[in-house]
Amino acid sequence: MPLRATLIPNHCWRGAVPDFDREHLWHPYTSMVEPLPCYPVASAAGCRLQLADGRELVDGMASWWCAIHGYNHPALNAAVVEQLGRMAHVMFGGLTHAPAVELARRLLGIVPAGLEAVFFCDSGSVSVEVAIKMALQYWSAQGRPGKSRLLTIRGGYHGDTFGAMAACDPVNGMHERFTPVLPRHLFAPRPCSRFGEPLQPGDIEAFEALIAAHADELAAVILEPIVQGAGGMWFYSADYLAGVAELCRRHEVLLIADEIATGFGRSGRLFACEHAGISPDILCLGKALTGGYLTLAATLASRRVAHGISADGGVLMHGPTFMANPLACAVAARSIDLLLDSPWQARVAAIGQQLRAELAPLAAHPAVAEVRVLGAIGVVQTRQPVPVAALQRHFVEAGAWIRPFGNLVYLMPPFIISPGELGLLTRALASGLDTLA
Ligand SMILES: *Cc1c(COP(=O)(O)O)cnc(C)c1O
Repeated sequence: MPLRATLIPNHCWRGAVPDFDREHLWHPYTSMVEPLPCYPVASAAGCRLQLADGRELVDGMASWWCAIHGYNHPALNAAVVEQLGRMAHVMFGGLTHAPAVELARRLLGIVPAGLEAVFFCDSGSVSVEVAIKMALQYWSAQGRPGKSRLLTIRGGYHGDTFGAMAACDPVNGMHERFTPVLPRHLFAPRPCSRFGEPLQPGDIEAFEALIAAHADELAAVILEPIVQGAGGMWFYSADYLAGVAELCRRHEVLLIADEIATGFGRSGRLFACEHAGISPDILCLGKALTGGYLTLAATLASRRVAHGISADGGVLMHGPTFMANPLACAVAARSIDLLLDSPWQARVAAIGQQLRAELAPLAAHPAVAEVRVLGAIGVVQTRQPVPVAALQRHFVEAGAWIRPFGNLVYLMPPFIISPGELGLLTRALASGLDTLA
């Protein structure tokens, strides 16, 4: 008998559990007073979520960029079970283990050249905190403690912890609620030059002026390469990213690439930095790192940064309790093997092609402002913010799991999705738009 059946008898899922959930559980960015409806899910396999009421949904979200191989994957399940038989966890202070070493070895073999040191941590936001600490400690150890601010581009999202939040877009981020306690960083305009197009004249000048004027107080530039995710699902020119990397070099400012969303193939390259042929000084990974199985993130640094941090005899001041959790590391290593052994480029390209073919006609829809597709990401930007609960109900009735936010309705399915399943998602999306006034 499955364990969950002993904990929560299936019949309870229909009434008591959703009530208990609504009364007592917070969900992401929701009110405890008027929560948006939540759909109880009983199990998931492949690209399908099985709701407790028996309905089956095709997953268009990959659980927020994570589940690239789909759910309940036999190889990933086996990796967890094998590791569970050895040990679920041991502290990483003074101890090490094969899953961490094997994962680090794999990561260093695939990330952009020059990254040589790996810090494992709990979640994407924490990996951004660690990246910021690395940058600050690096300059402090070089005898330049005044280099302590960050420069970023508007429209970014780097996580919900305080350090990360301070680098999120100041308007659609959460700044106004926390202004008094957030460090003041510098924000250049969001790039206008689109992905696949050359740099437009004037597009990088504002960024250049900021980095030139503030180089003495800047520790690092932090940005999401090519794809800005939760800050607006915006795809920008590789020339802009290459320009940023060059300006960072010229002005002695470190470059932090936040590939928490883009890492592991989503943009059509293994890492989005590859579109511009650049290597950051510090790289943040998370989300798809474990194939969606467990929470784990990593902050990677160049040898110059990693060793430079200790130039004054200091040590990197971070050490999470669950650092390099063996279960998470084991499944992450297996997930990378699975990805590299799969025809992931062809799969991502095919998803992109189908998204382009089936979403492009929606650009003419009166509710739609724009349609854009990159890699295995399809975005429909609406003219007005959408009614999330009503639209989501429509999608669920159409057999699709699509979670819009603001004026963005988007798809980023598992890479293993079939053309039939993806077609169901794009049809659900299209019919959902018809319900908007
Ligand atoms: C999701 C995300 C984060 C935060 O990761 P969590 O695991 O939610 O803390 C940071 N940066 C980017 C680009 C992300 O997409």
